[in-house]
Amino acid sequence: MVDYVIETIDLSKKYSNDFVVNSVNMHVEKGKIYGLLGKNGAGKTTTMCMLLNLTYPSDGEIFLFGKNAKIHSKEIYPKIGSIIETPGFYENLTAYENLKIISKLRGRYNPQNIRSVLEMVGLSDAKSKKFKDFSLGMKQRLGIAASIMHNPELLILDEPINGLDPFGIKEIRTLLKRLAHEFGITILISSHILSEIENIADVIGFMDNGVLIEEISKDDLHKRLNKFVEFEVSDVNLAIDIFKRMELKENDDFSFNKNSISGFIRLYTHLDLRDKFNAIFVKAGIDVKKVNLCEENLEEFFTRFVSNN
Ligand code: ADP
Repeated sequence: MVDYVIETIDLSKKYSNDFVVNSVNMHVEKGKIYGLLGKNGAGKTTTMCMLLNLTYPSDGEIFLFGKNAKIHSKEIYPKIGSIIETPGFYENLTAYENLKIISKLRGRYNPQNIRSVLEMVGLSDAKSKKFKDFSLGMKQRLGIAASIMHNPELLILDEPINGLDPFGIKEIRTLLKRLAHEFGITILISSHILSEIENIADVIGFMDNGVLIEEISKDDLHKRLNKFVEFEVSDVNLAIDIFKRMELKENDDFSFNKNSISGFIRLYTHLDLRDKFNAIFVKAGIDVKKVNLCEENLEEFFTRFVSNN
C-alpha cells in the first residue's frame, strides 16, 4: 500500500455559490516533491490553506500522515512547515539573528539548530550580511529555513519560485530536491510556471478552475506525451492531398501549419511509415527539407487535457 502523506477526498471550497476548489482527490507520497500546477486563480492557494487548517473546507476530507486532519490536528500540524505568504523578516538583521528571534518567539531557541538549518539552505556563508542586502533567492531560502526549523516531515510552499530570476529559481530547485531526496521531507509546492514544475517535481497535479484534472508522475508523463513526425515541405497542399488520398484524417492523423505554400505537416499516426511517406512526397515533386520525430511539450499536453475535460 502506498504511504500517502497527504490524501484528500472530494475536498471542496465554495465562496458564495462558486466552487473555487471542486472535489479534489489529491495523493502526495512520502519523500516526493509534488508540484501543484495551475493558472492564477485555479484554486492552488485555497487548497493549501485547507490542508494547513487556515481555511475550512466546504466539503470533503483531509488525511495527513494517514490520519484524519480534523480529528488529529494537534498531533499533525507540528509535523508541517509552510510558506503561504511571503514571510516577514527584519531588514537590518542577519539570517541567524532573524531565525534567533523567530525561534525565541516559538520558545525553542537552539543555536546549533539554527546553524544546521542555515547550512541546509546554503546560507551559512552569509554570516554578516543583512537581510536587506540578500538576493530574492536568498530571502526565499531564509523563508524556507524558518519553515524547517522545527524539523517538519512535510513542507507546503505556495509559489516559492514566483518573482525569482533564473539563478534564484535554480537555487530553490536545488534546495527543494536536497530537502526531499536527502532529508526525506515530503514537499508540496504550487506554481503557475509549467517548465519549472517539470524541473522540480516528481509528481505533477494539474489544477484548472478548481478541479484537479490529473495527477501524473514525471516518468508516466513522458510516456504519455504524444509523439509525432514533422515534415517540413515545399508544398503543404500537395502533401495534404497525398495524406487524404491515403485515407488519413485531418486532426486525427495529421495537422499542418502553412507558411504560404510551404510549411510543416505533422503526422500523429503511422509513425513507422515516415520513410515511406517521405519517398512518396519526393516522388510527387515535393521538396522535403526536414523530417523530425518529435514529442509534444508539456504545454501542449495540458492544453489537450483542459480541452478534453
Ligand atoms: P491560485 O492560488 O491557484 O491562484 P486561489 O486559491 O488563490 O488560486 O483562488 C481561487 C479562486 O478563489 C479565485 O477565483 C479567487 O478569486 C477565489 N477566492 C480566493 N479566496 C477567496 C475569498 N476569501 N473569497 C472569495 N473568493 C476567493
